[in-house]
Amino acid sequence: KKELLQQLKGKENITLDGKKVMLYANIGNIKDLATVIQNDAGGIGLFRSEFIYLEKEEYPTEEEQFKIYKTVAETMAGKRVIIRTLDIGADKKCGYFEMDEEENPALGYRAIRICLTRPEIFKTQLRALFRAAVYGNLAVMYPMITSLWEIKRIKEIAEEVKAELKEQNMEFRMPEQGIMIETPAAVMVSADLAKEVDFFSIGTNDLTQYTLAVDRQNPKLDEFYDPHHPAVLSMIRMTVENAHRAGIWAGICGELGADLSLTKEFLAMGVDELSVSPGRILPIRKIVLETDVEEYKRKKNAD
Ligand code: PEP
Ligand code: MG
Repeated sequence: KKELLQQLKGKENITLDGKKVMLYANIGNIKDLATVIQNDAGGIGLFRSEFIYLEKEEYPTEEEQFKIYKTVAETMAGKRVIIRTLDIGADKKCGYFEMDEEENPALGYRAIRICLTRPEIFKTQLRALFRAAVYGNLAVMYPMITSLWEIKRIKEIAEEVKAELKEQNMEFRMPEQGIMIETPAAVMVSADLAKEVDFFSIGTNDLTQYTLAVDRQNPKLDEFYDPHHPAVLSMIRMTVENAHRAGIWAGICGELGADLSLTKEFLAMGVDELSVSPGRILPIRKIVLETDVEEYKRKKNAD
């Protein structure tokens, strides 16, 4: 069976009726790059940059970050590499950030909320990213967005970083900028958000947690944490529709994207990209190659 999957390497991700989908990889460390290439990923759809912060005893410098982003961009040789900006807080604690104890950390001071209130940390990361973008097809993605003003503020900060790099005669390139859709609020305002960014990537892990009001960390709640819940699937559908209306693409980078029982359904929704752990790419490609999306939709409507 493994061998059969190996034969799918180098093939396009295209359905029987000609619909294409991007199959990208999620990684949490540059050590994972070898498996990304082995599994024939079309790109990296989620590079969790927080590992760079979590592995250290103090804030990683611009140079340290630049080297890592440059390595990933170069290794992927022109394939798209989406780097998610710092997403700590909630389940991911980092001592030197000296964060207060919180009653509800999942609803608390995390991710983009830290970046927008501590812009010096955010700017250091953006500088490193914009500089590394010269070396490949880098894109930047912002986590935990809930409101339009956040993306407007992010873009202002990005413009400041751009102006500073220019002023300092540094080599850089403005990458594509996208956001994660992982809160119900972001879904509900996705029509407006879509006008401001280059792409959406749906974070179903958090989207399930926040839609169902179920703590993703609490094993006691496993039977209540249901990413197949129709509310979650409706949110995904709505996000993709609003992305397409605004002319941008939408993918899924949460665990649900790797759920083979939903691959056909995602294709029917028009999902443009699935970013999954590297080992899942070829099994999904197999399903894509065997699917006729229009026929699937007809059958589903007939049921
Ligand atoms: C998600 O929330 O679905 C996601 C991809 O991000 P993380 O799991 O890192 O929160
Ligand atoms: Mg998340």
